[in-house]
Amino acid sequence: MSPGFKILVGMRVRLRKMHPCGNDEWVVSRTGADIGMTCARCGRHVLLDREEFERRVKLVVETPDPSKAAPSTGE
Ligand SMILES: [Zn+2]
Repeated sequence: MSPGFKILVGMRVRLRKMHPCGNDEWVVSRTGADIGMTCARCGRHVLLDREEFERRVKLVVETPDPSKAAPSTGE
């Protein structure tokens, strides 16, 4: 993904590298300087800095409804 794309809580993303559990889809659980995300299959939670997150994301699978998304405060 291009650097600086909009990251939203609830966004579902696909990563370049598969998780050991065999899943490559993650749901963003927090935004800010660090991006938190939860594995959609095994529920594992990881925290990445924004730069690392942008490097790892291959594509955005689903963008949450903006009216339901929690406001991002980390910017
Ligand atoms: Zn997993």
